Amino acid sequence: MEIIFNKSKTGKNSYAVPQWKGKEYPLDSKYTGNSGAALPDVGEPELVRHYVNLSKKNFCVDENMYPLGSCTMKYNPKINEKLASDPGFTALHPLCGPESSQGALKIIFELEEYLKKITGMKGVTLLPAAGSHGELTGVMIIKKHFEKTGEKRDTIIIPDSAHGTNPASVAMCGFKLKEVKSTPEGDVDIKALEGMIDKNTAGMMLTSPGTTGLFDRNIKKIAKMLHDNGSLFYGDGANLNATLGKARFADMGFDIMHMNLHKTFSTPHGGGGPGAGPVAVVENLIKYLPVPRVIKKGGQYIFEKDMPDTIGRVHSFAGNFLIYLRAYVYIRLLGAAGLKDVSETAVLNANYLLSLLKDDYNWPIKRKCMHEFIINDKGFPSGITTDHISKRILDYGFHAPTVFFPLIVEHSIMIEPTETENRETLENFADVMKKIKKEAFETPEIVLNAPHKTPIRRADVVQAARTPVLKWE
Ligand SMILES: *Cc1c(COP(=O)(O)O)cnc(C)c1O
Repeated sequence: MEIIFNKSKTGKNSYAVPQWKGKEYPLDSKYTGNSGAALPDVGEPELVRHYVNLSKKNFCVDENMYPLGSCTMKYNPKINEKLASDPGFTALHPLCGPESSQGALKIIFELEEYLKKITGMKGVTLLPAAGSHGELTGVMIIKKHFEKTGEKRDTIIIPDSAHGTNPASVAMCGFKLKEVKSTPEGDVDIKALEGMIDKNTAGMMLTSPGTTGLFDRNIKKIAKMLHDNGSLFYGDGANLNATLGKARFADMGFDIMHMNLHKTFSTPHGGGGPGAGPVAVVENLIKYLPVPRVIKKGGQYIFEKDMPDTIGRVHSFAGNFLIYLRAYVYIRLLGAAGLKDVSETAVLNANYLLSLLKDDYNWPIKRKCMHEFIINDKGFPSGITTDHISKRILDYGFHAPTVFFPLIVEHSIMIEPTETENRETLENFADVMKKIKKEAFETPEIVLNAPHKTPIRRADVVQAARTPVLKWE
């Protein structure tokens, strides 16, 4: 395994710290421990090369298109990074009081205002650190709401096409789960839903557009069915790439929603930590939002912690501030017209790419798509599946799309090109997909044994997920 410690050898180290000639003031040994720091002994060039070479084993959106459906890997403009690394922001200590962080609080406040405008909702918290964390926060709000009204509603309905984090959030909050089927056309099965809504229904979670890349045509009807029953309607808005400036979640009838800054608003993704999954709510749920909230009082921005009905804290300090900053820059640079253009281009790109692929790949739900679409491996020679196709894509220098999700389409290949790819890139990707189809018939072993060019070839995906080895010993 390539680990910096394996390169370590006593004396290789080439650092040069000037010798201190004055009086020494040794620290008390209770602060220093009794062995030296376990650091590798390597020179600077070796150290730099080690990490640069490691970074090259990975794939990133700065290298090529990353068409991961549902997860929106758009190009993140570098100006976001430049502003987020300004010492005026990075040197701001999280324990600074509001009096010395007015600028940062203003950004938090204004970003919440922008997200309110975009969604049509009345209250926003930026605190959750990921989409799934936003869901958890949202479901905690649903729970709190029914605690306050004194109703014993213990069930949340989720469609069979839902992102896996939806049922996980529901279960973590102690709700029971009911699954509603989708129709072959990709909408929620309204008849089935009708039979499921009852006095125990606390709410329903629905992704919009759905994980099939399609807009549910009955969304307002669903909202009405839930509201007539006193239930809440939760919108999974992880990905707003099709709706910015076009449609607002509040108008669709949702009461509560999350959105992922790291999907729609061009901030880095990562491990459920460095992201941000803001939650937006309608007026009567604002009182349950987590604390602290940034509010404006007497011309000053302050932290409001005194909210008797709050669900409490969901994140330390004021949250992932440098992520907010990137999203804030993105929104300010684009403006309302630019955001609308993002969605129009994202939808156009997805439909264009679909039109290039639909003769070579099976297109199971024949409806014009939103920002993403689904094809699959039906019609490929037997033995060659979505799994092999996605691995072969890597050999051609593209990242693979999302595969085997959503579960309602067999062997799904879910593609989201995003608005940041130009026409040539989309055509290059389509050419690769067509080439793979041809290879599958003419030289199937090349596809079956792919990938050939990646640092690690075929990983054991089950073991990698069940017993990941994350630590070097
Ligand atoms: C990505 C995604 C989530 C979860 O967001 P994370 O930030 O990965 O936790 C939830 N729902 C949908 C539809 C998503 O695409």
